[in-house]
Amino acid sequence: MREPCAANFRRRMIAAQPLFGRVRARDWCDWRWQMSHSVTDPDRLPAWAGIPAAARAAAIRAAAQYPVRITPYYLSLARWDDAADPVLMQCLAAPQELQAEQIALADPLGERRSMPAPGLIRRYRNRALLLMTGACAVRCRHCNRKGLLSGQRPARLGPALRYLGAHPEIREVILSGGDPLLCKPEVLERTLAALRRLPGVEALRIGTRLPVVLPMRVDRALVRLLSRFRPLWVNTHFNHPNELTPESAAACDALIRAGIPVSNQAVLLKGVNDSADVLEALFNGLQRIMVRPYYLFECDAVRGAAHFRVGVRRGRALFRELRARLGGLSLPQYVLDEPGAAGKRPLA
Ligand SMILES: *Cc1c(COP(=O)(O)O)cnc(C)c1O
Repeated sequence: MREPCAANFRRRMIAAQPLFGRVRARDWCDWRWQMSHSVTDPDRLPAWAGIPAAARAAAIRAAAQYPVRITPYYLSLARWDDAADPVLMQCLAAPQELQAEQIALADPLGERRSMPAPGLIRRYRNRALLLMTGACAVRCRHCNRKGLLSGQRPARLGPALRYLGAHPEIREVILSGGDPLLCKPEVLERTLAALRRLPGVEALRIGTRLPVVLPMRVDRALVRLLSRFRPLWVNTHFNHPNELTPESAAACDALIRAGIPVSNQAVLLKGVNDSADVLEALFNGLQRIMVRPYYLFECDAVRGAAHFRVGVRRGRALFRELRARLGGLSLPQYVLDEPGAAGKRPLA
């Protein structure tokens, strides 16, 4: 990870220097530096220059309700003077987050009532999801756990592991959160080892956005740790071709070379990727770095993120266009996640 990060350091500095001053390449490529220098105060961003004062005040109120957190690396992929930049739109608080939305819910998937043990979400018979942590490197504005995660503390996983042990029909466990790869390596290792000891659990999956927002964290030691627990899949979350960088490609490549297939779950987001050209470039770009487009999600009706919803009608039209343009290995399934269903519902 060091090499692609150092090789692109100058390019990133052109974007990042106004905010972070002079940074050494060694620090920039250190994920701990990235975490400790992440932007949590939206008032610090020069992007605000062109935004009217009222909208800016509303966005700062939104940030008080739904915290902002952006890594310097992720911010360096954006043009800050453009509030419509697809990277910025995914991480910068917006006034629309506080608009009252009748259909939007704090917990649109009913996850809270699907927890047989603290931190364990079970909505399907044969797979379950562990909330490893509430922490993320970047707080996505469109997060479907936007309501669930605010204030969530990591649960003690003992009861969840005991539940999984008593339910051998659960054959796949997904580590999620928050971002599980932000957990201490010891915690990750202990959890993966405990899951591997359960006789019913055949496959493990990790949902993480770190390859996209903090690729330097995917270092040799972490990859080696993960590779000991195969069969293990990683699902990551690229939403726009601007996120496909040499650094993010290298993070995915390190996992793939260690025998960990990487797939992608994108979300259809108004103003970010709701165009056939953008999605075509995203999915073909993912194929180029050997990341399999897995799902394209319809954006959930989550409170504080409803302004990102494109709607199923337009979504279907976009998807028809994609099907005509893309090969099978570049084409994800266009799906809706809804409470009560036996799985994600195909929309195409
Ligand atoms: C999405 C999800 C899964 C995984 O579903 P797949 O279709 O296998 O990707 C498992 N558990 C929960 C709670 C989920 O939301």
